[in-house]
Amino acid sequence: MSDGAIIDGSDVLIVVDVQNDFCPGGALAVPRGDEIVPIVNRLAARFRHVVLTQDWHPVGHFSFASNHPGKKPYDTIAAPYGPQVLWPDHCVQDTSGAAFHPALDIPHAALVLRKGMERSIDSYSAFYENDRTTPTGLVGYLRNRGLTRVFLAGLAFDFCVRYSAEDAQREGFAVFVVEDACRGIDIDGSVAATRRSLGRVGVNCISTLSDA
Ligand SMILES: [Zn+2]
Repeated sequence: MSDGAIIDGSDVLIVVDVQNDFCPGGALAVPRGDEIVPIVNRLAARFRHVVLTQDWHPVGHFSFASNHPGKKPYDTIAAPYGPQVLWPDHCVQDTSGAAFHPALDIPHAALVLRKGMERSIDSYSAFYENDRTTPTGLVGYLRNRGLTRVFLAGLAFDFCVRYSAEDAQREGFAVFVVEDACRGIDIDGSVAATRRSLGRVGVNCISTLSDA
């Protein structure tokens, strides 16, 4: 790990949404999303504490373009809580698209945190729903276990990883995004905007490549 980020017992790796629908062939494929699976597996083996997140929507979820007449995937609408990108139907509960990528191999992960279950609101972040105020409980879980540094990998860099990193930083954790263990969707320059935003708020973007 570069940037002096030696892993210790108070560190946690959060693996964001490494699910079939976010990989090539899935309903909301992140380009080259599957490439990160072996990288994430190797990275996770170095952490004692690992949390997996899983996007887990009911049928007819608010974030699905199919639920908004006249709209199409990747349009943006004004939601009560702010702008919301509309997506293809994805990660519907108990479907194969919502399952983790079959090669994801992190048997020691202690927690699978599901998000996006509330029909009327989307949830990019592992910590808060998109209103930025309704908590998932993950802050309490991490604090209760004495975990102080949050490392993030997964899909997609410019949405769920970004919002999770920014919320973790806001909650007072030291935050590291392992960028080569992420892939982005890149809508209208969202990857570049994410890099700028993470830098602005003080999130560290690092790489596993130095000792791969
Ligand atoms: Zn979703």
